[in-house]
Amino acid sequence: MSERFDAVVVGSGAGGGVVAGELAQHGRRVLLLEIGPHRTAADFTRWEARASHDLWWPLRMAIPTDGAEPIALFGGRCVGGTTTINTKIAMRADECDLEKWHAASGLLGARGEPFEVADLEPHYDHVEQVLGVRERSDWTRSVHTVEPGFRALDAELEPVRSYTDHNCMRCGSCLQGCPTNAGKSTMVSWIHPACDTGRLELRPNSAVRRVLISDRGAGPEVTGVEYVDAGGDAHAVEAGAVVVAAGTLNTPQLLVRSGVPEASGDSPSSRLIGRNLGFHPARLVSGLFDEPQDNYIAYPVSSHCKKFQRDEDGGFIVEATTVQDPIGFATGLCDDGGPLWGAPLVEALRKYRYFAGLLVMTTDDNNGSVVAEEDGGERFEADLRPDELERIDRSLQFTREVLEAAGAKQVLWTAPGSTHMQGTCRMGTDPARSVVDANCESHDVKRLFVGDGSLVPKTLSVNPSLTMMALANRLAEHLDADPNGYLEPRAAGVVVGG
Ligand SMILES: Cc1cc2nc3c(=O)[nH]c(=O)nc-3n(C[C@H](O)[C@H](O)[C@H](O)COP(=O)(O)OP(=O)(O)OC[C@H]3O[C@@H](n4cnc5c(N)ncnc54)[C@H](O)[C@@H]3O)c2cc1C
Ligand code: SF4
Repeated sequence: MSERFDAVVVGSGAGGGVVAGELAQHGRRVLLLEIGPHRTAADFTRWEARASHDLWWPLRMAIPTDGAEPIALFGGRCVGGTTTINTKIAMRADECDLEKWHAASGLLGARGEPFEVADLEPHYDHVEQVLGVRERSDWTRSVHTVEPGFRALDAELEPVRSYTDHNCMRCGSCLQGCPTNAGKSTMVSWIHPACDTGRLELRPNSAVRRVLISDRGAGPEVTGVEYVDAGGDAHAVEAGAVVVAAGTLNTPQLLVRSGVPEASGDSPSSRLIGRNLGFHPARLVSGLFDEPQDNYIAYPVSSHCKKFQRDEDGGFIVEATTVQDPIGFATGLCDDGGPLWGAPLVEALRKYRYFAGLLVMTTDDNNGSVVAEEDGGERFEADLRPDELERIDRSLQFTREVLEAAGAKQVLWTAPGSTHMQGTCRMGTDPARSVVDANCESHDVKRLFVGDGSLVPKTLSVNPSLTMMALANRLAEHLDADPNGYLEPRAAGVVVGG
């Protein structure tokens, strides 16, 4: 091995982009490896199919064990990860979410008490400041169309907070990458500024195949990673610490394929890798109105209804309204008779401009799993229980009623999908119920950290990226403090934050 870094970070999304950027700003030498390409605002256009090809993972599906509807799984595969193609809603976790974390994995905070919002507050403050989070009260026509429907059902809409600045042209192309950089991905906010310091090296088109584990006499520890570049050449690099942040569906596969279960002697925590997958299942529900709504030329999500956020109140949040790109709209529509085909589908598409869409997201209980198959394949399983299915049905029913009360002539919806996968390498204080500890370090393999949505012990009731970034900032702080002496002493003369 010829190269050595303080830390190698695998994956450049909400988690990895923040860890890598923060560590470099603190004077550490960091290598950031991303399997996808490095595309920037200059490359982004409103070409839906092309963006799906260039910036997104090919569509994956979680197949329910009981034969119910499959759940489509969406994510970004490019520098910035899913934050490059997401809608940039910025929500902090609710206290009710973090109570579930402690219950799931025994997670304790810095004071040895059950983990709570206060443990994340300084990190939320920091990432919100870097992102320039602000309120979006510039509601579009379609929001005003549906708002009376919420009021009729004794619910209300409030403005969202989002990581978009005042250069937002409300062009509606957030899912194809923001052409003005008004939308703040981790690429724009952490990776590019850290590259400027000279301490972060970004290598796109670099697929990490495994983390390298050896036992130098003190038990299993990580020594670096092996990756394959765009030309197919394999490289190995050494690091004082490795942070795997390849996303909830990929991180557990990488740990299994790297031999973490074998290195740990098949420990209880290693048996949990890939388990507890949460989906935060969501549906787009679209209402047909008499006047054009032009939902596709707007900042996608400017308001939401949180009345039913807590499980005891229903366990769902409705976003109003949301982007509907034409291919996605055409390929997903259902009504009570199932997927739309033939003349009814053509008729709905003719009226594309007249639909206003709501997105309803329901909390779930993390009963899914990611399976790394022996032949190199992958499998995603869903196992939604009756009370979860009932919550999902009730959330659809409420959303349909809102649109009908607002005057919709027809209401159509999609099958459940997930853009918020979480939980496959749970963090926790109890090794029998978690994969990594409260500092995000593997219970079994030293110097191996997880830094993405896989950490979340139980599905959040809110959009998760801000919490993933806050967790990543907390991890960067821990790594930089270096209580175990994993990193080299900081080079003399480094201006921290410069
Ligand atoms: C359409 C859409 C809209 C969304 N809107 C919002 C929103 O408004 N607000 C919100 O809070 N959340 C939103 N989300 C969710 C949010 O963006 C994700 O939850 C978050 O980005 C996940 O962070 P992550 O770090 O776990 O993974 P990602 O951001 O997905 O990053 C993981 C990265 O790792 C890379 N990678 C994977 N395997 C390897 C490998 N072997 N080697 C190297 N690199 C690898 C991937 O290519 C990817 O770039 C949205 C998601 C989608 C799909
Ligand atoms: S709507 Fe705003 S944030 Fe989204 S892509 Fe357009 S300019 Fe960027």
